[in-house]
Amino acid sequence: ERDSIILDGTHGVVMIDPDAETLRQYQKLRAQEKKYVSGLARLKGQPAVTLDGTEIVLQANIELPHDVNTVLEVGAAGIGLYRTEFLYLDRDTLPDEEEHYATYAGVITTLDGLPLTIRTLDVGADKQLAGGAPDSSPVVANPALGLRAIRLCLKEPSLIRSQLRAILRASVLGPVRIMIPMLSNLHELGQVQSMIGEVKADLDAQNIPYDHNLPVGGMIEVPAAAISADLFARRLDFLSIGTNDLIQYAMAIDRGNEEVSYLYDPLHPSVLRLIHGTLEAGRQCHTPVAMCGEMAGQPQYTRLLLCLGLREFSVHPASVLEIKEIINSSRLGQLSLLTETVLNAADSREVAEILSEVNPLH
Ligand code: PEP
Ligand code: MG
Repeated sequence: ERDSIILDGTHGVVMIDPDAETLRQYQKLRAQEKKYVSGLARLKGQPAVTLDGTEIVLQANIELPHDVNTVLEVGAAGIGLYRTEFLYLDRDTLPDEEEHYATYAGVITTLDGLPLTIRTLDVGADKQLAGGAPDSSPVVANPALGLRAIRLCLKEPSLIRSQLRAILRASVLGPVRIMIPMLSNLHELGQVQSMIGEVKADLDAQNIPYDHNLPVGGMIEVPAAAISADLFARRLDFLSIGTNDLIQYAMAIDRGNEEVSYLYDPLHPSVLRLIHGTLEAGRQCHTPVAMCGEMAGQPQYTRLLLCLGLREFSVHPASVLEIKEIINSSRLGQLSLLTETVLNAADSREVAEILSEVNPLH
């Protein structure tokens, strides 16, 4: 006799040999889910726009070049985060400029005019380079607080010099932006900007064309940067909030440590205030602020983020249509009335209660 198993990915539950009633309930749920997902397909060619007519930028995140096909399939408005770590991981040598260039050129050509935001290397902490990196990293107790992302690249500029040069060269093929991960102060930003300036000067000297106005932005994912977001907003062309790290650092919990995962709370008042403050700083400085952390792609938070002022989402390709459906059935006029109440909530339970009033039933 064969056993039956229910695998409920939504709630992370596996049931072996469920009783007849449970099985019936789940069969019903599965049918509803299928209908919902196939219903979303109608949104592919449609814009993301709220009921009161505000257009929302809805882009996608990718990690591998071929992910760009999925981005096109779901009709996202470009790529808001291209993680480039794959070029560096699982190998003993650093990728050279030509490898970077060929990879980015392929993605830009496939995007056919849609915008692409390339994030410079973000390794260290949980993602260590195998070999080829000029550092011989000592074992450190708090890697997430150590030499990671832009910190590591400023210490070892050879890690991103070729990358920056390749991105600049590829920028004549389509709309490209550079995004810097893990900025925590303006000194780092100044160093990155001079490095980009040097690379540009080299290209000029060699008569190699590139987009002279290529926008440079930064991720806001360290609480210090979020609190002083106005300083970054004034000096960068765009910002993007990385909630995965912002929450980890704000709550002082390792994002990969299961024992403290109960404290990983996107609805904690501190997190909401950091997000709102960053959006507000961007608005005042006329600097666009996107969000590319996982929170942007979770449908239960879409209306909350609209309420806090977010107008640019970059999400996993698989979430694009679901998020669009929620955006397109939301009324900003109604949500913005709740901003103060949300920001004054005492804890995440209170925020969740407010959300249960405004979130769509699905
Ligand atoms: C983030 O921190 O939210 C983010 C988008 O970057 P990553 O998950 O790659 O650290
Ligand atoms: Mg991050």
